[in-house]
Amino acid sequence: MGSRFRIGIDLGGTKIEGAAIDGGGAVRVRRRVATPTGNYHATIAAIGTLVRMIEGEIGAAASIGIGIPGTISPATGLVKNANSTCLIGHPLQPDIEAALGRPTRLANDANCFALSEATDGAAAGLPTVFGVILGTGVGGGLAIDGRVLLGANAVAGEWGHNPLPWPAAAEIPGRRCYCGRYGCIETFLSGPGLSADHLHHTGQRLSPAAIADGAEAGDAASSTTLERYMDRLARGLATVINLVDPDAIVLGGGLSGIAALYERVPQLWPRYVFSDQIVTRLLPPAHGDSSGVRGAAWLWPPDERS
Ligand SMILES: [Zn+2]
Repeated sequence: MGSRFRIGIDLGGTKIEGAAIDGGGAVRVRRRVATPTGNYHATIAAIGTLVRMIEGEIGAAASIGIGIPGTISPATGLVKNANSTCLIGHPLQPDIEAALGRPTRLANDANCFALSEATDGAAAGLPTVFGVILGTGVGGGLAIDGRVLLGANAVAGEWGHNPLPWPAAAEIPGRRCYCGRYGCIETFLSGPGLSADHLHHTGQRLSPAAIADGAEAGDAASSTTLERYMDRLARGLATVINLVDPDAIVLGGGLSGIAALYERVPQLWPRYVFSDQIVTRLLPPAHGDSSGVRGAAWLWPPDERS
């Protein structure tokens, strides 16, 4: 369509965010609507409303990229692996293209995050970048030479549903995960996983932010919980380093705001990584909450005209 605008949409569990990115990579318009939780057809309608709202403001049609929870199965064309389970089993791409009246690119939200941070974010210019979402769920995506690695089954980077490595006896079998297995990394490293772990050890029901704040203020129980969390994160990331050996790991999602992670986790991961020296950098996101929509917009790369 030759437009200089790209619209990126981040389809989340509670909100759908959209932004128009101009030819220079700047966000020009940003809007959000609530996700019609649990309702597939209403979710598609809400995306259509959001796109029309944004295009009305920029006064032009744009290319559309959408970051989704889960991924499109190459085998069936249907959504799989989404923690927003109402999407699972639906032909989301053709349904959205019919609603928007144009070709639309969809990709896993963690892949969009990795693409954003590798394109012009915290890891700009680095050849191998692992992007991690630590939020309501745990996801991951790989950007190699500025392109997302999709994989034969479209699950490359999905470390959240690997088991927690080097588990202690008390970590086995772990909590049940929505994917049907027990002890997935997601059940330990998601926000709800952190809160559940603190509750289990202390009887206190605290949000992840309250636990992080407590640890920073010197509260012993919160410090112990956060240290346990950071050791688990170090173990999970060590397996990624052993397998992919990225130049940088960029954290995103709500828990990426915990400043202690960036200092402490690299102190812990040498216990687990199979290397004498570790030069992999652990970085906070340069674009914060905007990375999801930016990466979705970059599904239509600047050097490609449609
Ligand atoms: Zn799982």
